[in-house]
Amino acid sequence: MNGIRQQKYLKEIGITVWQERKFAHKEKEDDKDPQLFRETISKDNGLPRIELDKKLNYLSRQVEICNSCELHKFRTKTVFGIGNKNADWLVIGEAPGADEDLKGEPFVGRAGKLLNSMLLSVGLQRKDVFIANILKCRPPENRDPRPEEVMACEKYLRQQIELINPKIILALGRIASQNLLKSTTPIGKMRGNSYQYSGSDLPVVVTYHPAYLLRSPTEKRKVWEDLKFAKNIYRGLV
Ligand code: URA
Repeated sequence: MNGIRQQKYLKEIGITVWQERKFAHKEKEDDKDPQLFRETISKDNGLPRIELDKKLNYLSRQVEICNSCELHKFRTKTVFGIGNKNADWLVIGEAPGADEDLKGEPFVGRAGKLLNSMLLSVGLQRKDVFIANILKCRPPENRDPRPEEVMACEKYLRQQIELINPKIILALGRIASQNLLKSTTPIGKMRGNSYQYSGSDLPVVVTYHPAYLLRSPTEKRKVWEDLKFAKNIYRGLV
């Protein structure tokens, strides 16, 4: 990605000027080498594409008819997740909001726009990652997910992770981070470390939720730090 475009995305997520020297240098290399974008779709998860499509479509249909918790009574559409089924990056949020419930797609509202810019600021396009949520149905009034709802929905996310077989998970916000990592640590304290998903060696990096950033724009710089941290971990893996 060229420096000017990156500056634009940084501006959109509220980070105006500076560029780390090392990072700026790396961007120059990336300009010469289109590998930056290729690396987000480079993984072979062992399943033929057709098989993977079939399994994910089947899982998505299971979600559509799910009534394992009371949230099914309130939903317009289930929100399974969207993106590259072969993605190296799995981005996990909390639960659908009003816009997502209507469209059946995660992160399509204002927080979604900001998420796109966050991803672009480190050279990731929305279409190259896979985006899902802890819950597949919208909680009424966007209240926090209840433990029994998270538990009822967990089987779907677990299967998504197994099928997509990402190289790294980016957890957005407290609810996603704590539930994925079975932790009660405040998100501010979780940041800056790499964790492992459920006893595997799949790294999980946590950062603030874009909806929180809309309310607290001064935290955007921390998110950028987290994204660069995640990118460095990812680069060490590929
Ligand atoms: N917030 C989330 O956590 N997920 C969405 O899909 C939308 C907003």
